[in-house]
Amino acid sequence: MARYSGPVCRLCRREGMKLFLKGERCYTEKCSFERRAYPPGQHGQGRRGKVSEFGRQLREKQKVKRMYGLQEKQFRAYFRLAAKRGGASGENLLTLLERRLDNVVFRMGLASSRADARTLVRHNHMLINGHKCNIPSAIVKLGDAVELRQKSTELNRVIEAMESVDRRGVPAWLTVDRKALKAVISTLPARADITMPIEERLIVELYSK
Ligand code: SF4
Repeated sequence: MARYSGPVCRLCRREGMKLFLKGERCYTEKCSFERRAYPPGQHGQGRRGKVSEFGRQLREKQKVKRMYGLQEKQFRAYFRLAAKRGGASGENLLTLLERRLDNVVFRMGLASSRADARTLVRHNHMLINGHKCNIPSAIVKLGDAVELRQKSTELNRVIEAMESVDRRGVPAWLTVDRKALKAVISTLPARADITMPIEERLIVELYSK
Protein backbone atom coordinates (compact mmCIF):
# COMPACT_ATOMS: atom_id res chain seq x y z
CA MET A 1 0.00 0.00 0.00
CA ALA A 2 1.25 3.52 -0.80
CA ARG A 3 2.50 5.84 1.93
CA TYR A 4 -0.27 8.01 3.42
CA SER A 5 -0.09 11.51 1.95
CA GLY A 6 -3.34 13.01 3.24
CA PRO A 7 -3.75 15.54 6.07
CA VAL A 8 -1.78 14.18 9.02
CA CYS A 9 -3.77 15.99 11.70
CA ARG A 10 -6.62 13.62 10.93
CA LEU A 11 -4.39 10.81 12.14
CA CYS A 12 -3.96 12.41 15.56
CA ARG A 13 -7.66 12.98 15.82
CA ARG A 14 -8.36 9.38 14.80
CA GLU A 15 -5.94 8.03 17.41
CA GLY A 16 -7.23 10.37 20.10
CA MET A 17 -3.87 11.89 20.94
CA LYS A 18 -1.20 14.21 19.59
CA LEU A 19 1.25 12.25 17.48
CA PHE A 20 3.42 15.31 16.71
CA LEU A 21 3.52 14.76 12.95
CA LYS A 22 3.64 18.38 11.85
CA GLY A 23 6.64 19.86 13.54
CA GLU A 24 6.35 23.33 15.03
CA ARG A 25 2.61 23.60 14.50
CA CYS A 26 2.06 20.76 16.97
CA TYR A 27 3.25 23.01 19.81
CA THR A 28 1.02 25.94 18.94
CA GLU A 29 -2.65 26.70 19.38
CA LYS A 30 -3.09 25.96 15.67
CA CYS A 31 -2.82 22.26 16.43
CA SER A 32 -5.99 20.66 15.09
CA PHE A 33 -6.18 18.20 17.96
CA GLU A 34 -6.20 21.04 20.48
CA ARG A 35 -9.13 22.58 18.68
CA ARG A 36 -11.04 19.44 17.70
CA ALA A 37 -10.16 16.54 19.95
CA TYR A 38 -12.64 14.14 18.41
CA PRO A 39 -12.35 11.72 15.46
CA PRO A 40 -12.49 13.19 11.95
CA GLY A 41 -15.40 12.68 9.60
CA GLN A 42 -19.11 13.24 9.57
CA HIS A 43 -19.79 11.09 12.63
CA GLY A 44 -16.70 12.11 14.56
CA GLN A 45 -18.70 13.89 17.23
CA GLY A 46 -21.37 11.23 17.46
CA ARG A 47 -21.85 8.79 20.31
CA ARG A 48 -19.11 6.20 20.45
CA GLY A 49 -19.96 2.63 21.36
CA LYS A 50 -17.82 0.32 23.47
CA VAL A 51 -14.52 -0.47 21.77
CA SER A 52 -13.75 -4.20 21.53
CA GLU A 53 -10.42 -5.64 22.64
CA PHE A 54 -9.53 -6.17 18.99
CA GLY A 55 -10.41 -2.54 18.30
CA ARG A 56 -8.06 -1.38 21.05
CA GLN A 57 -5.26 -3.58 19.75
CA LEU A 58 -5.76 -2.29 16.23
CA ARG A 59 -5.78 1.36 17.31
CA GLU A 60 -2.61 0.92 19.34
CA LYS A 61 -0.83 -0.62 16.38
CA GLN A 62 -2.05 2.12 14.04
CA LYS A 63 -0.97 4.79 16.52
CA VAL A 64 2.63 3.58 16.73
CA LYS A 65 2.80 2.89 13.00
CA ARG A 66 1.65 6.42 12.26
CA MET A 67 3.91 7.96 14.85
CA TYR A 68 6.95 6.51 13.11
CA GLY A 69 5.51 7.03 9.59
CA LEU A 70 5.59 3.38 8.59
CA GLN A 71 3.56 1.21 6.29
CA GLU A 72 1.90 -1.99 7.46
CA LYS A 73 4.39 -4.29 5.77
CA GLN A 74 7.38 -2.50 7.25
CA PHE A 75 5.80 -2.39 10.68
CA ARG A 76 5.05 -6.10 10.64
CA ALA A 77 8.62 -6.82 9.56
CA TYR A 78 9.87 -4.86 12.59
CA PHE A 79 7.58 -6.88 14.80
CA ARG A 80 8.90 -10.17 13.40
CA LEU A 81 12.44 -8.99 14.02
CA ALA A 82 11.55 -7.86 17.55
CA ALA A 83 9.87 -11.18 18.33
CA LYS A 84 12.97 -13.12 17.25
CA ARG A 85 15.13 -11.26 19.76
CA GLY A 86 15.12 -12.44 23.33
CA GLY A 87 13.01 -10.66 25.96
CA ALA A 88 9.78 -8.74 25.61
CA SER A 89 8.71 -8.39 21.96
CA GLY A 90 6.80 -5.16 22.51
CA GLU A 91 9.74 -3.49 24.16
CA ASN A 92 12.08 -4.78 21.45
CA LEU A 93 9.76 -3.38 18.82
CA LEU A 94 9.73 0.13 20.27
CA THR A 95 13.46 0.30 20.91
CA LEU A 96 14.13 -0.95 17.39
CA LEU A 97 11.92 1.77 15.92
CA GLU A 98 13.79 4.35 18.00
CA ARG A 99 17.03 3.26 16.38
CA ARG A 100 15.88 4.07 12.84
CA LEU A 101 18.06 6.75 11.30
CA ASP A 102 15.13 9.08 10.53
CA ASN A 103 14.04 8.86 14.16
CA VAL A 104 17.57 9.61 15.39
CA VAL A 105 17.72 12.69 13.14
CA PHE A 106 14.39 13.83 14.58
CA ARG A 107 15.35 13.06 18.18
CA MET A 108 18.69 14.88 17.96
CA GLY A 109 16.82 17.98 16.80
CA LEU A 110 17.86 18.38 13.17
CA ALA A 111 14.24 18.07 12.02
CA SER A 112 10.99 19.16 13.56
CA SER A 113 9.14 15.97 12.63
CA ARG A 114 10.01 12.44 11.58
CA ALA A 115 8.69 13.18 8.09
CA ASP A 116 11.14 16.09 7.78
CA ALA A 117 13.91 13.90 9.13
CA ARG A 118 13.10 11.29 6.53
CA THR A 119 13.43 13.93 3.79
CA LEU A 120 16.79 15.06 5.15
CA VAL A 121 18.05 11.48 5.04
CA ARG A 122 16.57 10.76 1.62
CA HIS A 123 18.17 13.90 0.16
CA ASN A 124 21.67 12.80 1.18
CA HIS A 125 22.19 15.30 3.98
CA MET A 126 23.16 12.76 6.64
CA LEU A 127 26.31 10.82 7.47
CA ILE A 128 26.77 7.81 9.73
CA ASN A 129 30.35 7.46 10.95
CA GLY A 130 31.44 9.83 8.18
CA HIS A 131 29.72 7.88 5.39
CA LYS A 132 26.73 9.11 3.44
CA CYS A 133 23.54 7.23 4.29
CA ASN A 134 20.24 7.96 2.56
CA ILE A 135 18.26 5.08 3.99
CA PRO A 136 15.73 6.32 6.59
CA SER A 137 15.24 2.80 7.95
CA ALA A 138 18.95 2.21 8.64
CA ILE A 139 19.33 0.98 12.23
CA VAL A 140 22.01 2.76 14.23
CA LYS A 141 24.34 0.84 16.53
CA LEU A 142 25.95 1.63 19.85
CA GLY A 143 28.77 4.14 19.32
CA ASP A 144 27.59 5.27 15.87
CA ALA A 145 28.00 8.97 15.09
CA VAL A 146 25.17 10.58 13.12
CA GLU A 147 25.85 14.01 11.69
CA LEU A 148 24.70 16.53 9.15
CA ARG A 149 26.92 16.80 6.09
CA GLN A 150 29.10 19.90 6.23
CA LYS A 151 27.54 21.28 3.04
CA SER A 152 24.05 21.12 4.58
CA THR A 153 24.67 23.04 7.80
CA GLU A 154 23.17 26.23 6.37
CA LEU A 155 19.78 24.69 5.65
CA ASN A 156 17.13 26.98 7.13
CA ARG A 157 14.86 24.18 8.22
CA VAL A 158 17.69 22.56 10.16
CA ILE A 159 18.60 25.83 11.90
CA GLU A 160 14.94 26.41 12.84
CA ALA A 161 14.50 22.86 14.10
CA MET A 162 17.65 23.09 16.24
CA GLU A 163 16.38 26.32 17.78
CA SER A 164 13.26 24.64 19.08
CA VAL A 165 14.57 21.23 20.11
CA ASP A 166 14.61 22.16 23.81
CA ARG A 167 10.86 22.16 23.83
CA ARG A 168 10.70 18.41 23.34
CA GLY A 169 14.12 17.52 24.79
CA VAL A 170 16.83 15.15 23.57
CA PRO A 171 16.70 11.56 24.91
CA ALA A 172 19.46 10.43 27.26
CA TRP A 173 20.75 7.75 24.88
CA LEU A 174 22.00 10.42 22.47
CA THR A 175 24.98 12.65 23.17
CA VAL A 176 24.48 15.68 20.99
CA ASP A 177 27.11 18.18 19.96
CA ARG A 178 24.96 21.08 18.86
CA LYS A 179 27.79 23.05 17.34
CA ALA A 180 28.91 20.18 15.17
CA LEU A 181 25.30 19.10 14.50
CA LYS A 182 26.32 15.62 15.46
CA ALA A 183 25.02 12.93 17.83
CA VAL A 184 26.65 9.80 19.17
CA ILE A 185 24.59 6.79 20.24
CA SER A 186 26.01 6.63 23.74
CA THR A 187 23.69 3.87 24.99
CA LEU A 188 21.01 1.94 23.17
CA PRO A 189 17.49 3.30 23.76
CA ALA A 190 15.53 1.62 26.53
CA ARG A 191 11.76 1.39 27.01
CA ALA A 192 11.89 4.10 29.66
CA ASP A 193 13.28 6.55 27.10
CA ILE A 194 10.05 6.43 25.11
CA THR A 195 7.72 8.74 26.93
CA MET A 196 4.71 8.73 24.60
CA PRO A 197 1.80 6.74 26.10
CA ILE A 198 2.03 3.40 24.28
CA GLU A 199 0.62 0.06 25.39
CA GLU A 200 2.86 -2.22 23.33
CA ARG A 201 1.24 -5.26 24.95
CA LEU A 202 -1.79 -4.65 22.73
CA ILE A 203 0.34 -4.73 19.58
CA VAL A 204 1.96 -8.00 20.65
CA GLU A 205 -1.48 -9.48 21.28
CA LEU A 206 -2.72 -8.32 17.90
CA TYR A 207 0.16 -9.82 15.96
CA SER A 208 0.22 -13.01 18.01
CA LYS A 209 -3.25 -14.11 16.93
FE1 SF4 B 1 -1.20 16.22 15.43
FE2 SF4 B 1 0.61 18.09 15.13
FE3 SF4 B 1 -1.62 18.17 13.69
FE4 SF4 B 1 -1.65 18.69 16.29
S1 SF4 B 1 -0.64 19.88 14.69
S2 SF4 B 1 -3.08 17.43 15.22
S3 SF4 B 1 -0.12 17.24 17.06
S4 SF4 B 1 -0.01 16.63 13.59
